[in-house]
Amino acid sequence: MIESKAASATTQEVVAELRARPAFVMVSHVKPDGDTLGAGLALGLALRPLGKRVHYFQQDPVPRNLRFLPDSERVARDVPEDLPADTLWVFGDMSDTSRAGEFLPDIARENILNIDHHLGNSRFGALNYVLDSECSTGTCVMRLLREMKIPVTRDIATCLLTTIMTDTGGFMHSNTTWEVLQLSAELMRAGADKEQITEEIFANKRFAAQKLLGMALEHATLENEGRYCWSYIDDAMLKAAHADGEDTEEIIGHLRSIEGVEAAALFKAFDGEIRVSLRSNGRINVQEAAARLGGGGHFRASGLTYVGQLEAAKKAVAQALIAEGL
Ligand code: 5GP
Ligand code: MN
Repeated sequence: MIESKAASATTQEVVAELRARPAFVMVSHVKPDGDTLGAGLALGLALRPLGKRVHYFQQDPVPRNLRFLPDSERVARDVPEDLPADTLWVFGDMSDTSRAGEFLPDIARENILNIDHHLGNSRFGALNYVLDSECSTGTCVMRLLREMKIPVTRDIATCLLTTIMTDTGGFMHSNTTWEVLQLSAELMRAGADKEQITEEIFANKRFAAQKLLGMALEHATLENEGRYCWSYIDDAMLKAAHADGEDTEEIIGHLRSIEGVEAAALFKAFDGEIRVSLRSNGRINVQEAAARLGGGGHFRASGLTYVGQLEAAKKAVAQALIAEGL
């Protein structure tokens, strides 16, 4: 199932394509994070001065804490009707096109560039620039900009450092190599304001989100001799906390960081569906566990949508984790 060894397009091949195309739509995934959005914005900001036409497609609105990103005010759910036929659609940070949502028009494969760093990427593009050793999609974009010798402006640096800080958990996850720190230093030197990014992304919590976290911790349950921790959020809890879906993002990290916990799951059972977030401390492959149930992601962070009832979801997820060695 893991396709990490499948070939990626070379940097040169992708750059040749970027040079050849007149127009671009950067596509980010639903429930966007700083990586999918920051990577698309960085590439757009880099290509526009070359005379390229650039649009940004995203089904969901820009989350509150990402509205500081340069160009994010141009992100939209629809695309202009007068796009040239050879517009290149650049999907960032997603393992398949369905992660972009339902509002996307049909796009011919020949017009798709897929830039990603996920283990289970399905190689859906004509060109697949999939570098699973990169910490973020943004650092894949950074390689392209280097090859094109495009100067990294302050705005581009802000977007790129945001991708890194998002996907390394503020330099805390194991994907924070010395190379990542070096790249980040370069981005700071180019003008990215690490302090601002930290504030916007990690220290900008809504009161409602913290209340909701409290409820999720209240319901947290340890199983498998304390190696597995799970909790849930439902419509009633959201309502009681005056919270919305965006306020659930941080909760899973708190479940995973409990002493002895090797795998954590958060069941987000609201708005008529069950979204499941999985996290691992590095022993259990939660990408494989999610893939067993139709989802995907990374070794240590994955997700899926479960069709059915919460009780069944809990059983299925526990079984998938056990099958992966929990
Ligand atoms: P989260 O728990 O933050 O929603 O997702 C963690 C990671 O899992 C994301 O970065 C994304 O890579 C992946 N992921 C989440 N949901 C899905 C899904 O439904 N399908 C796939 N393929 N990957 C997902
Ligand atoms: Mn990412």
